[in-house]
Amino acid sequence: SVPAAILSALAVSARGGVLFKGGAALETLASVSTFAFDKTGTLTTGRQELVEIHCAGDENDFLARLAGLEAHSEHPIAEAIRRAAEARGLSPVTVREARAVPGEGMVGVDEAGVLWAGNARLAARMGAKAEVDAAQALPEAVQEAPRTLVLLGRGAHYIGSATFEDQARSSTPYGLAALRAGGVQHIAMLTGDRRAVAERVGAELHIAPKAIHADLRPEDKVALVADMAGKGRVAFVGDGVNDAAALARADVGIAMGAAGSEVALQAADVALLSDDIARLAEAHRLAKRTATIIR
Ligand code: ADP
Ligand code: MG
Repeated sequence: SVPAAILSALAVSARGGVLFKGGAALETLASVSTFAFDKTGTLTTGRQELVEIHCAGDENDFLARLAGLEAHSEHPIAEAIRRAAEARGLSPVTVREARAVPGEGMVGVDEAGVLWAGNARLAARMGAKAEVDAAQALPEAVQEAPRTLVLLGRGAHYIGSATFEDQARSSTPYGLAALRAGGVQHIAMLTGDRRAVAERVGAELHIAPKAIHADLRPEDKVALVADMAGKGRVAFVGDGVNDAAALARADVGIAMGAAGSEVALQAADVALLSDDIARLAEAHRLAKRTATIIR
């Protein structure tokens, strides 16, 4: 049977919006010394804003096509794109057979053929790397800006790009400080976004440069979590479809419950209903106290 101290800790945590799937997760959390966080939607709000569009052709056609493809996506970037198209009064182009490539973007078919939108890895997968790399395709200012980049292309051709910005949640700095104060030794960031963005957000949150990992595919997140797990207990905190495997691999998987995806919630051992990392820090401290009581 579950010790009374654990039942009581589970109830107290639940009141704070931290839901454990069982007593074992609470006991494991007590010994976690490394917390690895996804960036977009976890450390940051995930509410992306379109900053600029860079394309040779018509901007409105670019945005209407991008929005048509992203109409089929649950990613935070898709929401920003749909909002931007709507603000300009654009009707999204009809896109069929749309599918997500986790950690890379979207692929579908419009009236003229295969359309894709995503990161440089997806561009390479579609055979458009040469065009994206070609002189002038992407100005240096766009390449180096600490902004999330979405490339749009048709087949092996590059059409244009859009950049996005998102802010750290206002609760994140205090949340990370509370975890450190509670004895957490290692805090890391694991993101599929570009290095420039990861470093900008990481610096703001005082995450050590060597603990910032960018350009990761979902399987790279799993490999890093496995690597960290070889050195001590690790918790992974994430919100996206691209985080599900890492959540499952971690000693404790923690999903952002309010804005997170269904798949992430299912893969996790703990749901953070308020999306507030400070609540997680409280649960971690409570788990440690409980562990001392039952020992
Ligand atoms: P994170 O780990 O930060 O949550 P993801 O792994 O979900 O990021 O995505 C990595 C990158 O892939 C994004 O920064 C973006 O460039 C691209 N990407 C992912 N999903 C989409 C999408 N639906 N549309 C366009 N680009 C996308
Ligand atoms: Mg995310």
